[in-house]
Amino acid sequence: MTISGNEDPELTTRLVRSIAQDLEFNLCGIAPAVSPPGYHRLVEWINAGHAADMEWIPRRLSAYQSPEGIQPGTKSVISLAMNYHDGSSAAHDGSSTAVENQLRVARYAQGAADYHDVLRSRLKKLTTQLSLQCPESRNRIVVDTAPLLEREFAQLAGLGWFGKNTMLINRRIGSWFVLGFILTTLELQYDRPSEHNFCGSCTRCLDACPTNAFPEPGVLDARKCISYWTIEARTQPVPENLSEQFGGWIFGCDVCQEVCPWNRFAPHQAIPELQSQAAITELGVLDWLSMTESEFQDRFRGTPLQRTGRTAMVRNVILAAGNLGLKNTIPALMTLRSDPSEQIQLAAEQTLARLKM
Ligand code: SF4
Ligand code: SF4
Repeated sequence: MTISGNEDPELTTRLVRSIAQDLEFNLCGIAPAVSPPGYHRLVEWINAGHAADMEWIPRRLSAYQSPEGIQPGTKSVISLAMNYHDGSSAAHDGSSTAVENQLRVARYAQGAADYHDVLRSRLKKLTTQLSLQCPESRNRIVVDTAPLLEREFAQLAGLGWFGKNTMLINRRIGSWFVLGFILTTLELQYDRPSEHNFCGSCTRCLDACPTNAFPEPGVLDARKCISYWTIEARTQPVPENLSEQFGGWIFGCDVCQEVCPWNRFAPHQAIPELQSQAAITELGVLDWLSMTESEFQDRFRGTPLQRTGRTAMVRNVILAAGNLGLKNTIPALMTLRSDPSEQIQLAAEQTLARLKM
């Protein structure tokens, strides 16, 4: 028997929620496929130059106006959140100071698998079920790559509010989660949007940001954000006065989440694929600095670090070595001055100058 979803939105909605739970999603919410009310904020953000060189955002600007731009006929947007915190300690959450002097990788990227792949394969199971039950439906999976204002739809679906750090925060599970979406032509029962902002007078994230990347609460200037420079800016040199504030971060940055009080008691429920791997978090600086392209590929295949690539990652490690004052890296840095990559050469020169001071 098949269900015509448009005839029985309640039954189909129950099915969606039940499958989402079976697939270990921590949150599931559904919003109508409206024009997102925060679209004008995206326009203002781009016009202010805060998108840095992420040209794919302004290039597809008009498509962000409606889910129709991704899948014509979409009536509902299903938002699903998956926790990626596994309970390991970090520098800024009060549980450890040891990591202050280490190379650091953002939590979402510490697992053996890329969260995009993990979510996509689970969402595929959900869309397969939906298509079986409602053969007339069309269902499109979105995980980060399509022009969808993702957090906007998650907020409309009741998953959380926009923190001053721009993250979506849920009262029960904090902000350590990644988001995946299904755009469906089915009409479903909708959740109430999260309308209340529970940040109150707190400004911890704004105060803790190492690079002052928040020009105002709730607005992030990518041109100053460590995550942008260490992940997205792969081909341009990092401005020296900025990189000196990156500390040990070599891929992303979690500081504005680590300090958030809503994460203090957040559950640690990362599924095995997203749990922290010592092979990533404890890789020594000298191992990084001697890594060839093929070793990099072997080690990081299928992880988020692979997309950023060996050149940008080694550049990031060199800059971090300077920030952490790691004089034992000097011989390796001298070798890297003749690396084929100009970025690596430049970073090695800069760090050598700092370490020899
Ligand atoms: S990720 Fe780091 S650098 Fe970027 S805004 Fe948050 S604290 Fe600042
Ligand atoms: S640290 Fe404070 S201000 Fe920042 S997002 Fe969390 S609650 Fe809101």
